[in-house]
Amino acid sequence: MNIEQIPQKGYEEVVLARDPSVGLTTIIAIYSTALGPALGGTRMWPFASEELALADVLRLAKAMAYKASAAGLNLGGGKAVVIADPRKDKTRELLQAYARVVDSLDGRYVTTADVGTTTEDLDTIGEVTKYVTGTSHGSGNPSVVTAYGVLHGLRAVATELWGSPSLRGKRIVVQGTGKVGGQLARHLKDDGATLVLSDIDKDGAAALAGELGAETVHPGAVLSTDCDILSPCALGPVATDDTLPEFACKAIAGAANNQLERPDHADALQARGILYAPDYVINAGGLINVEDELHGYDPERAHAKAAAIEDRLTRIFERARTDQTTAAEAADRLAEERIRGAGRST
Ligand code: NAD
Repeated sequence: MNIEQIPQKGYEEVVLARDPSVGLTTIIAIYSTALGPALGGTRMWPFASEELALADVLRLAKAMAYKASAAGLNLGGGKAVVIADPRKDKTRELLQAYARVVDSLDGRYVTTADVGTTTEDLDTIGEVTKYVTGTSHGSGNPSVVTAYGVLHGLRAVATELWGSPSLRGKRIVVQGTGKVGGQLARHLKDDGATLVLSDIDKDGAAALAGELGAETVHPGAVLSTDCDILSPCALGPVATDDTLPEFACKAIAGAANNQLERPDHADALQARGILYAPDYVINAGGLINVEDELHGYDPERAHAKAAAIEDRLTRIFERARTDQTTAAEAADRLAEERIRGAGRST
């Protein structure tokens, strides 16, 4: 095993490790540990080159730092990539060699699942290092807490737009009725919202709509469906140059990652009078859930922390008004200030 430091400007620590005997090439990026250990998932993907893998892991580690900071968690930001095809290359030996790299960082980086890694993989990693969360003995399916956090985010949107957190009678389109969107739809039904559901799995969406007394809309028409809130819970990007003219909503607030194709799409939404809830703030419930494991997992505490997304988002909307900027920019500023305020620069 060869582990080398590959310093990157703005990042606390980046390591590249190789173990040809098991086909391992991995890069672990720690953006910051100013607020606490850098927690972030392990992405296993057959990147076309080490340069592309490095670019991805740097971008993702920084995003994790912002997400954790904006969520008020005492976590830094980190991420790992393993350059391998999870369908063909994943072996116990590869995972355990990777785990030794994680272990060598002495807890400055704590891993969890991401694209290409599963709970079972984390269990294997956990045989070698204790710096892992989200194993089968841990906090379990994060989607439940993510959906609960998104619900509270939608209440903050309602307060901002209509002066009350009530979602009763609001027409809400949920794009994607998978693990998060499906659970969110149930919460929204309980809150008295008028629901419109959409999924490329039309049968799944129709079955849920039947159960909840909701309408459905064709996936191709979802963005142009007239509504109070569009809740993207499928895949990003949602706001692009092409989709901007289509929106017929007053707000966009949902779980999907990377909802804006470019940062300036936040300005474009604002110019169209559409309130955008920054994705990494409203969808932080999953991270909040795994973070709770570091304190001995308590589902009630994790839910309570996810409910606080309502207050955080309200403060971000207020800050955006004060600073005359977008909520996306206000969230970034808050996240950066908290990291800087922790005393160790990144
Ligand atoms: P999922 O795979 O369970 O559900 C996604 C659903 O979206 C699927 O049912 C899929 O058929 C549907 N879909 C895909 N493309 C669509 C389209 N164009 N139109 C309508 N439906 C479409 O995933 P999930 O865990 O529910 O995650 C949803 C989103 O939230 C993802 O972007 C994910 O990255 C993000 N997210 C999830 C969590 C979590 O805890 N699961 C945490 C943070 C962020």
